[in-house]
Amino acid sequence: MTSLAETPVTRLKGAGPKVAERLGKLGIETVEDLLFHLPFRYEDRTRIVPIGSLRPEQSAVIEGEVLLSDITFGKRRSLLCKVSDNTGTVSLRFYHFSAAQKNNLERGARIRVYGEARVGASGLEFYHPEYQVAWSSLPALEKALTPVYPTTEGVSQLLLRKMMREALAVLRQQPPRDLLPESVLQQQSLPSLQQALQKLHAPLPDDPVDLLLAGEHPSVRRLVVEEMIAHQLGMLSRRAGQRAHEAPVFNADGLRGKLLASLPFQLTGAQQRVINEIDADLLIPHPMLRLVQGDVGSGKTLVAACAALSAIASGYQVALMAPTEILAEQHFRNFSRWLQPLGLEVSWLVGSLGVRARREANEKISSGAAHVVIGTHALFQDAVQFHRLGLTIIDEQHRFGVHQRLALREKGRLDNQVPHQLVLTATPIPRTLAMSLYGDLDTSVIDELPPGRQAIDTVVISEARRPQVIERIRNACLGSAQAYWVCTLIEESEALQASAAEDTWAKLKEALPELTIELVHGRLKPKEKAERMARFANGEAQLLVATTVIEVGVDVPNASLMVIENAERLGLSQLHQLRGRVGRGSEKSYCVLMYATPLSHTAQRRLGVMRDTTDGFRIAEEDLRLRGPGEWLGTRQTGELAFRIVDLMRDEALMEPARDMAEALLRDHPQQVEPLIRRWLKGGENYADI
Ligand code: ADP
Ligand code: MG
Repeated sequence: MTSLAETPVTRLKGAGPKVAERLGKLGIETVEDLLFHLPFRYEDRTRIVPIGSLRPEQSAVIEGEVLLSDITFGKRRSLLCKVSDNTGTVSLRFYHFSAAQKNNLERGARIRVYGEARVGASGLEFYHPEYQVAWSSLPALEKALTPVYPTTEGVSQLLLRKMMREALAVLRQQPPRDLLPESVLQQQSLPSLQQALQKLHAPLPDDPVDLLLAGEHPSVRRLVVEEMIAHQLGMLSRRAGQRAHEAPVFNADGLRGKLLASLPFQLTGAQQRVINEIDADLLIPHPMLRLVQGDVGSGKTLVAACAALSAIASGYQVALMAPTEILAEQHFRNFSRWLQPLGLEVSWLVGSLGVRARREANEKISSGAAHVVIGTHALFQDAVQFHRLGLTIIDEQHRFGVHQRLALREKGRLDNQVPHQLVLTATPIPRTLAMSLYGDLDTSVIDELPPGRQAIDTVVISEARRPQVIERIRNACLGSAQAYWVCTLIEESEALQASAAEDTWAKLKEALPELTIELVHGRLKPKEKAERMARFANGEAQLLVATTVIEVGVDVPNASLMVIENAERLGLSQLHQLRGRVGRGSEKSYCVLMYATPLSHTAQRRLGVMRDTTDGFRIAEEDLRLRGPGEWLGTRQTGELAFRIVDLMRDEALMEPARDMAEALLRDHPQQVEPLIRRWLKGGENYADI
């Protein structure tokens, strides 16, 4: 007997190739897919409502006798049909109708109507309702509630319903295998898959529709839990698959001691702990897959450098990939500053390199002369051949997806041996999301900032007070402080952003003639940008006017004041990143969030969060809540989070139990793993080979 998952929708009546193609757009290919397509609303067509008790906006079935039907000429010509039962009278109104339709609605006919009653010219009216006419008796009423599905052009609600009824019949004949163990179902009081689907597509009139729609009913939870478990199993098997590869073994050695001895500070406890975790991974002859999370300024780069030294000391190369050139450049500067004195070669490879510089870099990489290579996506190019890549470090700010991580790994493959991987994220990721996105990685958290950092005071003020803000900059910068002025524009165009920043720069120069003011934006040549940044970094300039290009990678500890213009336009995580550019030195730091009026309610709340906390995790949680996972993550990774039933925000609380259940299932019922992955993850067959 074929399973639901192997039965294409075309097997159902009414689903020809055209319809199948359209259903494909909804991700529906098999009868099983169809059954996982859930209604977003239900209609009650199980009982007849007396006409006299109808309320405006009520959706209802009524039944009665046609009293009269006539064409009326009000504002628009329409067919008006009066229907009454022994409790009252109501009208049906049709602006589009055929002659046959008019004839059919004949005086004395019995009629059953379904629609929404609205207040119209003649009292309560149904506009273009669904209806059935009969001279003898009308068919029996529905026994179950009528589902309303999300649909797509060319697939009508009626067709979808009809196919679903057939699919439910197939479901009853060939109940799907319950892939969740009995113990899980009992422990969570969940129904079988068949019961759950039956309930969701055809609930009875007294079922708690609110709970079904809110995802709180056991029938929805049954699907949610299974999908989450499948997702976690996908992660676990991907992880197992990756770990099955071999990787070189690295010992921490003297190089690291030399680096640490050269620094004017000590590692924080949190840095040391995370380094120990990494060291332990590198001693195992299988690839490390570790995510290091740490708030802005927590010192992730140094942790990464320590890991790099272990690889280098064992004769391997290290690649560090960042999502933007400016961030890559910052890493390049740090790594050069730290590693060159140890006699190591740090190379630089980005898209904007000239032909010659690129060729030189490629030569150093392939000959092994380069110990560390730092760059952007350019590291993927075919021409880039590593001599012996042992560790990849990805600073990602959730901009790279799993597949890019894997692609970089493939670059370093030597026979069955692959490099270790370290992923750094500067933006803290709320736990639930981390579990769904990075479930295949081990996680370390640097939950401590270097000592001596002062809390940043944040104020939120209206743009009307710009003159006072400018005074404040004057006072601060005439002392020994330095400041940032960040210009924001919603437009994606770098040209527009650059010109807006230029305007602001000109105005600030006029208002603050006694200060040296630099300007940076994304349109500058890298060399020009670097020179200007350098003049700010070494204190020649006191004020830096910048677009959000400084969001990442700028590190000037003496800067203690930041003004962000039109702060209401930015997301919380971005504001947090920006604000992290101050509070890096020993001076008390301030951040001024300037907004344009009127300020929306959400914007007020967002800026309030920024004022009240500097805890990156809290900010990230709040940001996620305000924007939802899709926007929060950007498009690339939402693809990896394409759940069918699960709603990450709604179902957050089930994520951890699902993780535990997935682990138990893998241990106790390994034969269920593959079918679960196959059921829920499209293309899931390949998960284990990665
Ligand atoms: P992150 O990348 O986590 O935002 P960075 O690695 O850029 O943070 O570090 C921020 C700053 O703190 C850098 O100037 C770095 O040199 C410095 N730093 C790193 N670790 C320590 C430490 N243990 N004590 C003092 N300063 C540190
Ligand atoms: Mg950093």
